[in-house]
Amino acid sequence: MNEDKVKKIWSEEESMSREQIEKIQLARLQETVKRVYEKVPAYRKKMEDVGVKPEDIQSLKDLQKLPFVTKQDMRDNYPFGLFTVEKDELVRIHASSGTTGKPTVVGYTQKDLDVWTECVSRIATMGGATKSDVAQICFGYGMFTGALGLHYGLEHIGATIVPSSTGNTEKQIMYMKDFGTTLLVATPSYALRIAEVALHMGVDPKKDLNIKIGLVGSELLTDAMRLEMHKYWGEDILITSNYGMSELMGPGVSGECEYQCGMHINEDFFIPEIINPKTGEVLPIGEKGELVITCIYKEALPLIRYRTKDVTRLIYEPCECGRTTCRMENLDGRTDDMLKIRGVNVFPSQIEEVLLSVDEIGPHYEIIVSRKDFSDSLEIRVELVKATDSYKELEDIEKKVKAKLRVVLGLDAKIKLESPNTLQRFEGKAKRVKDLRKEV
Ligand SMILES: [Zn+2]
Repeated sequence: MNEDKVKKIWSEEESMSREQIEKIQLARLQETVKRVYEKVPAYRKKMEDVGVKPEDIQSLKDLQKLPFVTKQDMRDNYPFGLFTVEKDELVRIHASSGTTGKPTVVGYTQKDLDVWTECVSRIATMGGATKSDVAQICFGYGMFTGALGLHYGLEHIGATIVPSSTGNTEKQIMYMKDFGTTLLVATPSYALRIAEVALHMGVDPKKDLNIKIGLVGSELLTDAMRLEMHKYWGEDILITSNYGMSELMGPGVSGECEYQCGMHINEDFFIPEIINPKTGEVLPIGEKGELVITCIYKEALPLIRYRTKDVTRLIYEPCECGRTTCRMENLDGRTDDMLKIRGVNVFPSQIEEVLLSVDEIGPHYEIIVSRKDFSDSLEIRVELVKATDSYKELEDIEKKVKAKLRVVLGLDAKIKLESPNTLQRFEGKAKRVKDLRKEV
C-alpha cells in the first residue's frame, strides 16, 4: 500500500468475512479461557462452580456456558487478583475513580498497550482522523484511560498531538487557534463548554477555529446532543462517538464511522453479547439488552463475559463504509443510570432528548429525584437560552417542556427555568442527575 495514501480503513481485520472473524474469535477465546483457568484461582473457582472446563469451549456458542464477571469481582480481587501475568510483566496500571469503596484496577503488558493503540488507531480512522490532523486531547490525563488511550492511538496514525487535558478553557481555545487544531477529543459536555467560553471570548468556533473532527466519548452522545454540538461547532464538523471502558481496555472497543449508524466493534479482540439483565439469558440478535464483552486478546487482564451495564443492541448488517465488523447501537444509558420514578423506568438520556428539542432552553440541565410522603417527585432545572422577565413567556416555555416530557416519559415533572449561565458546567463526565432518594 502506498504510504502517502490516506487510510480510510486502518486494518484488514476490519473487513474480514464473518467466517474469518469467527475463526479468529474461537481460537483466541479458547486460548484465553484456558489461561484464566490455569492462572487465576478466582476464575477457576467460578468455572468450577458452574461445572465448566476450558475443553468444554468448542464453539462460540459455548461462551454462554461461562459465568459472568462483574465490577464486584474486580473489587473482591483488588488490586491484582484477576491478572494472569506476574507483576513485573506489567508496564502500565490505570484505575477507575471508584466513587464508592476501592477503585477498579487494570494493568497492561507491552503487548496489551500495542493492541490498545491499534484499536484506537482504528476508531480514530473511522472517525475521519488522518496523519494531517492536529489533535487536541481535552480529556483529563491521569489514572483515567481516556486521555492516554486516544493519545497513543492518534499519535500512531501520525496525527500531531496537543495533550492539553482539561481545564483552563481559555488557554485551550488559544491553542486551538494558534496551532490550527483540526481534531477535538472531549466529552460532549466539555465540547459544548469550550464553544460557550469561545463565544464569550469573541471567538466563533464555526468561523475562527478549524475543528473538522470531534471524537467524543466517556459520556453518552444522544442524537439531540449531537445536533446541539453542530449548532455551536458548525454543520461540517464530523462528530463521532466511541466506546470503551477501563475494565475492558479503555477507549477503542468500538467507534462510529462516518455513516454514524452504530459503533463498529473490534471483533478480533472483543466478543459482544446482549443479555437480559434480569435473567442473564442471551437475547436473539437485534434485541436490546445489557452489553456483555469478552476480551479475547489481552494478556494482563482478559475479562470473560464482563457485564458492562450499558444498554444497546447489535447490528450485523453490512455497513456502507466497507467494514464488516458488528456494530453496537449508540447507547441509551446504563442499567445503573435508569431511574425508577413512580414505577416508571426513565433514562436520563430520554429527558435530555426532550429538553434539547425545545428551542428556548439550552443544553445545560439538572435532574433531581426525591421522595416525599412515599411518592417520588421529578424536578428538572434547565437554563433558558435568553433571559426574559415576561411571566407569560416563561409559563409558555414551562408548559411546552412539561407536555413533551409527559408524552415521552408518561410522567409529570416539575420544571424550574433558570437564567442563562447559572447551572454547573463540566470539563469531564457531566453529572446531571441527583437522586436524593439514595442519599437518605
Ligand atoms: Zn461503517
